[in-house]
Amino acid sequence: SGFCTRTGTYHSQWDTEHHSWSSSSVSLPNHLLSNLASPSKPAFVDAKSDATLTFQDLLFLSSAIARSLMASGVAKGDVVLLVSPNFLYFPAFVLGIMATGAVFSTCNFLNTRSELREQILDSNPVLIICTNDLRSKLDGLTSNPLLLVETLLVVVSGGINRIFDELPEVEISPSDTAALMYSSGTTGKSKAVVCSHGNMIAMSQMLRVAWSCCYGDGDNNNTTIVDLCVLPLFHMFGLSVFICGAVSSGSTVRVVVATGRYSTDGMLTAVEKHRVTRIMVVPPMIVKMVTSFYTFRKYQLGSLKEVVCSGAQLGTEHMGSFAKCFPNVRLSQLYGLTESVGPIVMCDGVKNGEINDSVGRLGPSVTARIIDVRSGKSVAPNCQGELCVKGPSITKGYLNNKEATSSSIDSQGWLHTGDLCYIDGKGLVYVVDRIKELIKYKAYQVPPAELEEVLSAHPEIIDTAVLPYPNDEVGEIPMACVVKRAGSGLTEDEIICFVQNKVTPYKKIRKVVFVDFIPRSTTGKILRRRLKEKNNIYPTHF
Ligand code: AMP
Repeated sequence: SGFCTRTGTYHSQWDTEHHSWSSSSVSLPNHLLSNLASPSKPAFVDAKSDATLTFQDLLFLSSAIARSLMASGVAKGDVVLLVSPNFLYFPAFVLGIMATGAVFSTCNFLNTRSELREQILDSNPVLIICTNDLRSKLDGLTSNPLLLVETLLVVVSGGINRIFDELPEVEISPSDTAALMYSSGTTGKSKAVVCSHGNMIAMSQMLRVAWSCCYGDGDNNNTTIVDLCVLPLFHMFGLSVFICGAVSSGSTVRVVVATGRYSTDGMLTAVEKHRVTRIMVVPPMIVKMVTSFYTFRKYQLGSLKEVVCSGAQLGTEHMGSFAKCFPNVRLSQLYGLTESVGPIVMCDGVKNGEINDSVGRLGPSVTARIIDVRSGKSVAPNCQGELCVKGPSITKGYLNNKEATSSSIDSQGWLHTGDLCYIDGKGLVYVVDRIKELIKYKAYQVPPAELEEVLSAHPEIIDTAVLPYPNDEVGEIPMACVVKRAGSGLTEDEIICFVQNKVTPYKKIRKVVFVDFIPRSTTGKILRRRLKEKNNIYPTHF
């Protein structure tokens, strides 16, 4: 199958002929939970306690949660916000909420009260579900009710034993909204990405097809993938791979859910204990695995076949170190965005010990163009430009935000990713740089606009712009370029402290440079490239 046409459009090379795309189901929960092939096989396992949720348990519990929410008044189209760290039943809460026809929304549970308030104001949830220890943070933020995860679990605990073997009958269409996930996109503050049931079903099918092509059918050749979930399920990467991908792959994938604070030791202990075969990670986890390799040699990691990295750029030098430290483990990448509802570029056939700095090939049914950033015209293979994508998993846009939607998705339906990429003659995609205004600290999104708003409230700051500054351990740190009032003695530490209490820890300003002025366009837009070039801000290799 040719992948690059004369119009400069790249098509997926995946052999979709042998993998049916047709689906009669219209909601994500129905798609994942109707006609279970192996109901009694484990779907999710708690890494510490070994508690297990079989596929049938997942169906029963999701149904029970859905019925309980409906009984308390949750109706189709309502938004339900789940604020929680990962726990074994998280997937059942997601699917239970969606099965009512309501819209699932989530956020980083570390967010500050004011960040949470902003998201609540924007998405207007009728109900917030949170864990007991997060209650005080959420109390009083909305007049709508707060429900504890623990309480709901007690209410539905009969659900696993009682026969709730069918999801409630609710009319849901593929274009109905299933989830609101927050992302800042190419510019500005965080906004709600509208993810339809159709988008999420497409993501489930893409991952199932891709994984069955790579690993074969587990039922026939006994190669069950044992995934370790250390990524947060409140982020699209975790949600898409562990709920859409893993559940739709049926018994070929079992997910071990790590709970509690992340540590490399905790991750490797779980790999050893559960004979994990695959871990999904973000680049800082790889950096830690290779820089502290000698302290990790005590773990028996023989079961581990693959580490899949996504969320931010992984340096080639780290890939090289990984190949040396773990010669028997395949290191591959995925590329995607919240706006694409998960990974849309994926590696296949990467060999153990190979250094492959491509993020992979276009996933099933994804099409792409690389365009010149100024002219908007397609460029030739191997030439750099902005990656634009189309496909059934791509969002329709941002909630109640036509302006942001039309600046991200053009009139022909291409999503502009804001990433500088190229595609080679074999159809492999390479990410070169990020052109959008976004900082990725440990792969978490830090929108500069949010920090600029906080900083501009400081009486001694006249103007400011926040830029990413490279950092080997975490990828990038937020750096503030500050113009201070004449005669002000404002220091770097004072600025860092000023922002510290107002944002989630991962968004903190960690470096400050004082500049004479912030270059802006006539419309007031910060000219970030000019700012970088004018001031000798970066180390030479950046
Ligand atoms: P998010 O919406 O938080 O998932 O962020 C999406 C962005 O993360 C993309 O637009 C890229 O800038 C970056 N990203 C995701 N995966 C990769 C990857 N494998 N390599 C480089 N950057 C990536």
